[in-house]
Amino acid sequence: MTCDFSLAHYRELLGAAQAGGYRCAGFDRVPEGGDLILRHDVDLSLAAAIAVAEVEADAGAWSTWFLMTRSTFYNLASPEGEGAIERLRALGHRIAHHAVYPHVELDERFDPVVAWHNPDPEFMQAPIEGAVNVMEPPFFDPAHYRSDSNQRWRHGCPHAELASGAFEWLQLLIHPEIWAFDGATMRESMESMLDADRAARLEHLHADRIDMS
Ligand SMILES: [Zn+2]
Ligand SMILES: [Zn+2]
Repeated sequence: MTCDFSLAHYRELLGAAQAGGYRCAGFDRVPEGGDLILRHDVDLSLAAAIAVAEVEADAGAWSTWFLMTRSTFYNLASPEGEGAIERLRALGHRIAHHAVYPHVELDERFDPVVAWHNPDPEFMQAPIEGAVNVMEPPFFDPAHYRSDSNQRWRHGCPHAELASGAFEWLQLLIHPEIWAFDGATMRESMESMLDADRAARLEHLHADRIDMS
């Protein structure tokens, strides 16, 4: 098994979790032994989110998708954004809020669950009125948490530990852009994303009746 950041290895990661006896869980109750809480902060690309969500549904898994209302990179209120929410729900996933401090904009699109985007230590674990903060206890605990940030696992890829049931339970943060776009480094994955984005924007231009002849 090669621990690269590809959809193929993500499939293997999910298979490892199933082999280790884990079941999917969300942020609606206190974590229990055997829970795999799949969390996705969507920073850059709804298309990447859908690609990863389809892989999970194929594998019989589901997760919680944290979507931004203040993203520089996508518009949740656009037809693409509304379609993404619809597709994620249809695949059996949950929708939560990836918020930009201090703006908590929970509306009917979101479960009352918040993950801050690029949080500072001062507010990262602070309680949020009317919502779960995914980085506060009981959902966050260093021994029960792994993140793929910038294609760097601080403690290595967790697939072997998942397969052997080494975690009592785990909150696993997966950024879909890293896995859905090809690249051996973060830089390369981002270049792949930008190439795909150009193609998508050309389609948007056609849909907006812009004369591209
Ligand atoms: Zn691995
Ligand atoms: Zn983020």
